[in-house]
Amino acid sequence: MTPESRAAEFDAADPLSGYRERFTLPQGAVYLDGNSLGALPRATLEGVCGVLERQWGEGLIRSWNDAGWFEAPARIGAKIAPLIGAGPHEVIACDSTSVNLFKLIAAALAMRPGRKVVLSEPGNFPTDLYMIAGLEAQGLATRRLAERERLAEALDEDVALLLLTHVHYKTGAMHDMAALTRAAHAAGALVLWDLSHSTGAVPIDLNGVEADFAVGCGYKYLCGGPGAPAFAFVAERHHAHLQQPLTGWFGHAAPFAFSDDYAGAPGIERMQCGTPPILGLAALEIGVDLIAEIGVARLYEKSQALSQFFLACLGHHGVALELVSPARSDARGSQLSFRHPEAYGICQALIARGVIGDFRAPDILRLGFAPAYLTFADMAAAARHLAEVLASGEWQRPEFNRRAAVT
Ligand SMILES: *Cc1c(COP(=O)(O)O)cnc(C)c1O
Repeated sequence: MTPESRAAEFDAADPLSGYRERFTLPQGAVYLDGNSLGALPRATLEGVCGVLERQWGEGLIRSWNDAGWFEAPARIGAKIAPLIGAGPHEVIACDSTSVNLFKLIAAALAMRPGRKVVLSEPGNFPTDLYMIAGLEAQGLATRRLAERERLAEALDEDVALLLLTHVHYKTGAMHDMAALTRAAHAAGALVLWDLSHSTGAVPIDLNGVEADFAVGCGYKYLCGGPGAPAFAFVAERHHAHLQQPLTGWFGHAAPFAFSDDYAGAPGIERMQCGTPPILGLAALEIGVDLIAEIGVARLYEKSQALSQFFLACLGHHGVALELVSPARSDARGSQLSFRHPEAYGICQALIARGVIGDFRAPDILRLGFAPAYLTFADMAAAARHLAEVLASGEWQRPEFNRRAAVT
């Protein structure tokens, strides 16, 4: 049986197959980069146009009240909450992941006076490490990095906060959130989880593991659009003591009292800084609604099935690439990463064939499997293209090997 006929059987039996139509994807493309920029839901086109025409064009400033603009950050946060095991009042959609990291690292440091160390791991997503460095430059933090096997022993009485990305952006390796949260708490430290590569793809139980804080991205699996607002989670037990440093007027308990003195909102709204980006939030809400409708459990199940099938297809074609993601599907997020010295050229050759994955320096070919809109036929096609690219050596062609600036 060919991978293609196998794929047809799997697609016919796939309870999520109908969801592909709810997204607009370019004809003929196999999109394996939904972990970097999620695809466009069809409903977003009309939905955002409606916000422009009716809410902005006609409603004008009245829409802050009439169209629920004020409540949008908390309303969307409440919709993200069940995807990550949080209570509806513990999550808010605001700012970027980077800015939310800054606010929550600083807040955690303020809650652990006498401790300055923020512990993370080398190779964590750059912005996470840079945000710690920024607070270090302000004299507020000390950055400590330990390899993942060494994290538990690096947790001592100087550590205020453990900051980790749940699913690693490059390898897809997934941390044991429960065990690490427990270890941090046992050392008297708080925990901040970056869920950018997990939310909407992998089940997460923040309250089940008693996490303190989390951040995550709106434009990856949540399909909120390029630069979509991010989200922040603060466990309810910390709301009363939360001192985040970006004390803008939208985080005030009564923004329209126009008081000279700051008094933070009592709940998660305190995480806000300035006026929320309504157009970005409108697109994010539609993406979140769609992902929530499908449900994380079904998405995760399909994501594992897709990646296992992709590996089986590679095996069928005799492709033996070095897999840097965990081989067990329950130890990784929704992606597979392969190491090859010519990963850049291979990635470019695949893109020229319509298989859109990405390259992560220096030698990683990263393929994301966004389960909401990919099919098993996509897996079979992508694996066949990859086999052909490797066998033909077309990745050596000069147009695929011009190393431009890669973001
Ligand atoms: C994508 C990603 C971010 C993105 O941060 P921005 O502020 O939106 O640029 C942060 N952390 C991780 C782990 C990511 O994967």
